[in-house]
Amino acid sequence: MFGRSLKLFRILGFDVRVDISWTFFALLIAMSLALGFFPAVYKGWPAATYWWMAIGGVIGVFFSIVIHELSHSLVSRAFGTGMTGITLFLFGGVAEMQGEPESAKAEFFTAIAGPAISIVLGVLFLWLGGVGGEDRTPLLALFDYLGRLNFVLAIFNMIPAFPMDGGRVLRSVLWAVKGDIRWATKWASGLGGLFGFMLMMLGLFAALSGGLVQGLWWFLIGMFIRSAAQGSYQQMEVRRLMGGVTVRDLMHKDAHVVPPSLTIGELVDKYVYEFQQTAFPVSEHGRFVGVVDTAHLKSLPREDWSRKTVREVMTPPEDAALADPAQDAIAALQSLQQGGADTLIVTEGNRVLGTLSRSDVMKLLGLKMDLESA
Ligand SMILES: [Zn+2]
Repeated sequence: MFGRSLKLFRILGFDVRVDISWTFFALLIAMSLALGFFPAVYKGWPAATYWWMAIGGVIGVFFSIVIHELSHSLVSRAFGTGMTGITLFLFGGVAEMQGEPESAKAEFFTAIAGPAISIVLGVLFLWLGGVGGEDRTPLLALFDYLGRLNFVLAIFNMIPAFPMDGGRVLRSVLWAVKGDIRWATKWASGLGGLFGFMLMMLGLFAALSGGLVQGLWWFLIGMFIRSAAQGSYQQMEVRRLMGGVTVRDLMHKDAHVVPPSLTIGELVDKYVYEFQQTAFPVSEHGRFVGVVDTAHLKSLPREDWSRKTVREVMTPPEDAALADPAQDAIAALQSLQQGGADTLIVTEGNRVLGTLSRSDVMKLLGLKMDLESA
């Protein structure tokens, strides 16, 4: 879901990261504040003042989002759900959760915590901004803006479109009523998808009737909500179907292991073509010493195949994609997707137990989906 993200700092045990997409968003806010909003509301101030206010505005938006996400994370942690960190991206932030919440109650309070703190911040900033009456200094004008912004943040997030906060609140209520998280997720994410679609159509309509930039924004936000809603339902289904399946259950115990002294020519002739395996664990005296992947052989000139050995081209254990036999199969699949490798080597200590490829996980998932829908 995320592109490249940069870790900024750590607070209360959570990493705060910024995705590359957020920098565009920040730039857009700064420009629309300095050139649009502030000059329109507070006329006659020097251009430099508007820009300083805009920079303050971006910093304020940043901390408003961080505090919003942090309150989700803190409440979730209090309920015992593992949280990995906060990432700011596109037009907001995401508090990353490991797995589904424990109970409907945990989900309700975790979801409502963000908008609730945004309302508190909104009231606080509006009060600060109003201290000097209607005749505001630039600093008070900035506070007034941040007050409004936090209200927008609270209201936008409370739209009942899963996986947004409002959609999570809705899901927790449905979940509590019927006691079935799957049914609740189906309805909440269905509504989320519908809402996203409506926003896209509205954006298209606005764009065609003259409001091109605003229409485009609506369209993009709608598209984002729609795909997030669909993605989160699929993710839950995958977790449910694959729950309890470990790497040990799925791995190939009979995967062929090669010695490091083998030449590449021998590897290709005797192993790759023979067994049609794409990644081979390399083992010496029963110890795991590396991985040789056929993908890496392509860059090797053909005439070197008879001279070069596996030892010279293999990936050392510290750079190899490894899995623990007790690891969750879905977690292993995620690490495959992140690392870009196709096969994980399953090891215990320095012994090779087998291999696990993406297609093994997908095959079982396909089978389970097929049987469940019948
Ligand atoms: Zn939120």
